Amino acid sequence: MAVIIAVIIMTNISVATAYADDTGSEVNASQVTSVPTFTSALPHQTGPAIWAQQSVDQFATEMGLTQVHWVTLESGQMMATPCNVYSSRNAYVYCPSTDTAYIGLDQADYFNEGTNPLAAALLTAHEWGHHLQRIKGTKQFGQANEDGADCVGGAWLKWHTDREGIQMTPADAIGFYELAVKIERPVWMPNDPHGTRWDRSIAMSTGYFGGLAACNRYSQVM
Ligand SMILES: [Zn+2]
Repeated sequence: MAVIIAVIIMTNISVATAYADDTGSEVNASQVTSVPTFTSALPHQTGPAIWAQQSVDQFATEMGLTQVHWVTLESGQMMATPCNVYSSRNAYVYCPSTDTAYIGLDQADYFNEGTNPLAAALLTAHEWGHHLQRIKGTKQFGQANEDGADCVGGAWLKWHTDREGIQMTPADAIGFYELAVKIERPVWMPNDPHGTRWDRSIAMSTGYFGGLAACNRYSQVM
């Protein structure tokens, strides 16, 4: 049981591409949602982009690692970047050529909806993970990178909840699982680099329980 919970806790993270906006996998979430009726212990924090970015920056500093540049796309905003054109609905992405993570507020709301109040924040840390991978010269596309970034998200989650004195409940863990269901590789996109809900859950758990150093097993981050 402990293993199951651990896996579920890790489920959070995400990926940062436009694919994250796909909703085709949500069908399966209903099987999970009907299970528990626990109450979340997590505070609902608004403005996920800003506070999460600041938190991830602080985590970076405490770990002696570099910060990524952040650009927040306000609701309805579009932006052309060297990597692609992003809107606030499909931006949760790291662009290596500008060393910048583009974070869309509408996308953040989507991640948090029906999952966990920390879901979008976890995915913010995921984008910073891609920055760390670039610094270490890791290949920029592939499931090892995506799992590794999920792992970084898990490491940030542990650091954040410890720091804030937050005790996660079963509802919180299930919320992360629901997020993983939402952001897993779509079955109709077999070449999508993101993992399945289980890949992502395990990667998150690895970072949560093992810390950032444990994420090097996927792709080097420190
Ligand atoms: Zn990613």
